[in-house]
Amino acid sequence: MSLQVFINGRLVPKEQAVVSVFDHGLLYGDGVFEGMRSYSGRVFRLQAHLDRPWESARAIWLTIPMTQQEMAQAVYQTLQVNNISDGYIRLVVTRGAGTLGLDPNKCSNPQVIIIADHIELYPREFYEKGLRIVTASTIRNHPAALNPRIKSLNYLNNILAKIEGLQAGCVEALMLNHKGEVAECTGDNIFLVRRGELYTPPNDAGILEGVTRAAVIELAQEMNLTVHEVPLTRHDVYVADECFLTGTAAEVVPVVEVDGRTIGSGSPGPITQELQHRFQRLVRQRPDG
Ligand code: PMP
Repeated sequence: MSLQVFINGRLVPKEQAVVSVFDHGLLYGDGVFEGMRSYSGRVFRLQAHLDRPWESARAIWLTIPMTQQEMAQAVYQTLQVNNISDGYIRLVVTRGAGTLGLDPNKCSNPQVIIIADHIELYPREFYEKGLRIVTASTIRNHPAALNPRIKSLNYLNNILAKIEGLQAGCVEALMLNHKGEVAECTGDNIFLVRRGELYTPPNDAGILEGVTRAAVIELAQEMNLTVHEVPLTRHDVYVADECFLTGTAAEVVPVVEVDGRTIGSGSPGPITQELQHRFQRLVRQRPDG
């Protein structure tokens, strides 16, 4: 049976899950999206993954035409009808069909789309041996222009940096902010370990407030590690003992080379490995367990 996609309150075969060519989600990237994971049939940190699109929508003056509770139900319904227990869920809310002008007031019917599918993880080797990444010359969006905290359908900023990474033979690329500080990668947040303490850029460095990032900070605190959310430079990355990325799709992935510089020993460090381990345990934990 073909994959069933939730669109506007109904589950339909993926071939029938279509939107108008006048939808401003398509014409202008006007809308928001979200990515979540389910492990053994349970969505990891569902509330955080609902709060973020609702906040993004508020920031762009978009009203999501359903409640969070209805959305949660629809997410589970989409997983169940497709018989997916370990999967990836993509939530999309578009501005809806309008005129060819920019005016969002002329749009109606925001489209709510939920796609659940099996997850494509990075190859196992990346988790065991670590990634090589490069710094992109494309900087992260200036927060006063389009705040990276908004997970909008306009991801060209990240895509341009991703292309630079791919052209350098890397699956991820480091992005700096307008001040030249480390921001995040194209679809993942970044962490460093130095002298047994954890460092990650603060939310006001112009990053997406990652759900995985927050979970990893909690895990690090459980390990009694000091976590610094402070501005970082590329120099801090080069001299770190360990480096890793976090994201819903990637989970926790070690980085062993940045811009040709070997990070630490050149293999995933002990704190990274412990956090990878603890993260795997966390996502599989029952809510009461
Ligand atoms: N930064 C960007 C730009 C992203 O797109 C993502 C993926 N949503 C992340 C960071 C990681 O966030 P999360 O842990 O919530 O997936």
